[in-house]
Amino acid sequence: MGHARRRPRLPRAGGALSGRTVIFGAGPAGLAAAYTLARAGEAPLVIERSGVVGGISRTVEFDGYRFDLGGHRFFTRFPEVQALWEEVLGGDFLDRPRLSRILYDGRFFDYPLRPANALRTLGARESVACMASYARARVAPRGDEATFEGWVQNRFGTRLFDRFFRSYTEKVWGIPTAEIGAEWASQRIKNLDLGVAVAQALRLRRRDTDVTSLIERFQYPRTGPGLLYDRMAARVVADGGEVRFRAPLTRVEHAGGRVTRAWTGETPLNGAAFLSSMPLTHLVEAMDPPAPEAVRAAARALTFRHLLLVGVVVDRPELFPDTWIYVHDARLRVGRIQNFGNWSPYMVPDTTSSGIGMEYFCSDGDALWTADDETLSRLATTELAATGLLGAGRVVRTHVVRVPRAYPVYRRGYEAHLATLVGWLRTLTNLQPIGRYGMFKYNNADHSILTALLAVENLRGAGHDVWAVNTDSDYQEIRRAPAPARGGAS
Ligand SMILES: Cc1cc2nc3c(=O)[nH]c(=O)nc-3n(C[C@H](O)[C@H](O)[C@H](O)COP(=O)(O)OP(=O)(O)OC[C@H]3O[C@@H](n4cnc5c(N)ncnc54)[C@H](O)[C@@H]3O)c2cc1C
Repeated sequence: MGHARRRPRLPRAGGALSGRTVIFGAGPAGLAAAYTLARAGEAPLVIERSGVVGGISRTVEFDGYRFDLGGHRFFTRFPEVQALWEEVLGGDFLDRPRLSRILYDGRFFDYPLRPANALRTLGARESVACMASYARARVAPRGDEATFEGWVQNRFGTRLFDRFFRSYTEKVWGIPTAEIGAEWASQRIKNLDLGVAVAQALRLRRRDTDVTSLIERFQYPRTGPGLLYDRMAARVVADGGEVRFRAPLTRVEHAGGRVTRAWTGETPLNGAAFLSSMPLTHLVEAMDPPAPEAVRAAARALTFRHLLLVGVVVDRPELFPDTWIYVHDARLRVGRIQNFGNWSPYMVPDTTSSGIGMEYFCSDGDALWTADDETLSRLATTELAATGLLGAGRVVRTHVVRVPRAYPVYRRGYEAHLATLVGWLRTLTNLQPIGRYGMFKYNNADHSILTALLAVENLRGAGHDVWAVNTDSDYQEIRRAPAPARGGAS
């Protein structure tokens, strides 16, 4: 894969396109492309499978309580993405403090770790054992560097790995850490993990590495990310574009190396160019004539994780001060707990209650994924109580949201399958995959949006390799210059 060295501007006007652009999916990527095109007077058509915009970045509301599907910090190193957010959100873009902790073995660790807290919480004996294990790993690394497990063990030691990396990672990905490729670790683990923090606390790592997850402020739309996407969609329509709901892409006709027509059900969609933020694997399956069997087999080999969010309303305010808590405790199935009133006070309709998000990660076939709402509500309520965070509060309402395909899984060997797909899709010259699942990349929203902005520039004749976003060193998450930052698995 090449490297996208050129830094794009937020495209405004520019050369007129030769025809309409059809965009599959109204999530952050699809809407960013549509917004940019519509602002430039190029009325795009967006077809969206569901009835709402925002994709997995949407904000769900029930009874006045707003729930973000996972808690989306707004951070970007790309000025054009920041400019877009600010343009759309104006004064509704809040600067928020972040507090988060890790729950492990029934104890809360400050996150980022503070030395006194870490030592007190781990205990002197355990701290020394972690240090010894870390020293052994540094002197004689033994892990297989190709795997997440080996990569992390070599850098932090087996003991820290077992305590602070294994259980949470396996909750998120649903496979043993030895089966997860090191690419994910090398891209994301630097952003933050307790291992880094413990090591820093114990002075095992120098403090000059600016680890993004130590940042304690972030930006957030007043009423959640959905506010951004609602406004973008409204603007697309005001500028002459169209966002068509309950219109899934079902078929892509192609001939001679070009997409000739797309279909939603029985409705044909003509266009000169096509941008796809729908799942890459589904796009390949929609090809007519069908993609070669090797390409379809590669699509079937790519796996994903679903997210289950149980929104929980509790009849007490200020249950805990964190924005979110990572639950590393293997005895609890919940992976992360969000406190949405701390993301923005406007996420909760009053000052006497709390809106909590219990996040579960699962795969097809997991009992959890097919469990009914009542079972999930009971589980979330029981587990919230088990953490001790509920205190004297009472759960008064719950709301279950199922988010399919939230995480593309970087299982060892996935790169070869993805390369097969990408190689074939590149032969269709007027089709550009964009976004997170659209490109099967573990992209944050800003990366997803950047791919859309680059793809729009390509429509105007630029030669960006959109696939390079998040693989080029320029796009790495470790921050070396003063800039806002984020960390942690999202
Ligand atoms: C738990 C969690 C936490 C996260 N936290 C952060 C964070 O803190 N900060 C951050 O920047 N990012 C975060 N992200 C990542 C962010 O959510 C994604 O990068 C972003 O939503 C991807 O945008 P997208 O448009 O590529 O895809 P999506 O949001 O998935 O949107 C794709 C759209 O395509 C539609 N679609 C699907 N199939 C079809 C079809 N056949 N036809 C038409 N439409 C279709 C879908 O309904 C959806 O609306 C988080 C993600 C998760 C899961």
